[in-house]
Amino acid sequence: MRYIFTAAILVLTVLFARAQRTDKIINPRAVKKIERVLSSDKMEGRGLYSPGLDKAAAFIAAQFAKTGMEPLKGNSSFFQEFSMIDAKQIAASGTIGENTIPGQNIIGFTSKQHLQIDNSAGFTSVTIGAGEKFLYTAYRYLQEGKNYIVWVDTAQASNFSMLDRLKGPRFKSDNSVIFVLSPSSPAFSFVIDSEVSEKKLKNVTGMIPGKSRADEFVIFSGHYDHLGIGKPDDLGDSIYNGANDDAAGITAVIMLARYFSKWHNNERTLVFAAFTAEESGGFGSQYFSQQLDPAKVIAMFNIEMIGTESKWGKNSAYITGYEKTDMGAILGKNLQGTGFTFHPDPYPDQQLFYRSDNATLARLGVPAHTISTSKMDNEPFYHTPADEINTLDMKNMAEIIKAIVLSSRTIISGEDTPTRVDAQKLR
Ligand SMILES: [Zn+2]
Repeated sequence: MRYIFTAAILVLTVLFARAQRTDKIINPRAVKKIERVLSSDKMEGRGLYSPGLDKAAAFIAAQFAKTGMEPLKGNSSFFQEFSMIDAKQIAASGTIGENTIPGQNIIGFTSKQHLQIDNSAGFTSVTIGAGEKFLYTAYRYLQEGKNYIVWVDTAQASNFSMLDRLKGPRFKSDNSVIFVLSPSSPAFSFVIDSEVSEKKLKNVTGMIPGKSRADEFVIFSGHYDHLGIGKPDDLGDSIYNGANDDAAGITAVIMLARYFSKWHNNERTLVFAAFTAEESGGFGSQYFSQQLDPAKVIAMFNIEMIGTESKWGKNSAYITGYEKTDMGAILGKNLQGTGFTFHPDPYPDQQLFYRSDNATLARLGVPAHTISTSKMDNEPFYHTPADEINTLDMKNMAEIIKAIVLSSRTIISGEDTPTRVDAQKLR
């Protein structure tokens, strides 16, 4: 009995020591210090292409630097930069065989100001037939990154103008896709002029190399962009601070980076990512996912809106797409006896699994889930200027971040490997 008693004391001592060292780094005061800066009016709501967004990125990078983390392989800094293109078509003309075609029957997706091509240009001809799903097929051709002439059956005339819906910011690329409302022809020539503006965006990323399994990655992420400055509310406030959405998630990412850098006993490589442009199409996580081999990503903890109490109260959160892998079960097992619980997402109708940056990696098979507490049926400040720091619970946030530390530990150590997402089954 004595032996067991001693062992029990030892276990308690280890648990207590671990809890103490966690509290030293992750506590309500430390959480508030980060959250306050990210959600302040100075960051202007972190809107797309705004100085406030850049300011937030610089702050996060400085926090990453303080931890002693390294930039990702192939990056010279904590910034992972990429270019977006906004192209507005201003004129189009063309001939098919001997005939002139009206400009409105030509719609180009291109990063070039002046695009002039004919049948010798090497573009591949493809078609969208009368009975095909128009937007779905068009989107597929746009995603492939190739030079296409897409001949659209004239029976699709009423759908053709819906191509405008696929416009908007795109990644800068060398390829062009031209949609033409006409039967296909081997002889053609088209000219498209566009007003093109190029804008830069950046994720903030860093890593702690693993001790024994350096080529296996565990990702902790959130998004640092929000809605910027918009329509004022009744109180005249026009800054959408996004304290919960998602300054709270980024605060967690920074705290986790701090914690894991301090102990640096991770067997797998830990990657920390603050994504940009989540609110405007998920471009940050899309670019990020193209810079690594998804097969090497063992798990992704995406953190969104953890500043308010979940529907079950304090010391609980939910995991989106819980049933798609066994990651949630692993996390639950690691939390046994702590009083903290993770639940399956209680708002399945809202499709939250597909509405944040985890979805981009999940579609590549990665066990990628979002952890949140947001009561999506009753979160009055969601996407309003009132999403401010004084509506958040710092103590509860600190508990959630600590729960992520505790629950991820067997994944970080290599003892557990979550099952993959079956990407075929995703919508
Ligand atoms: Zn969000």
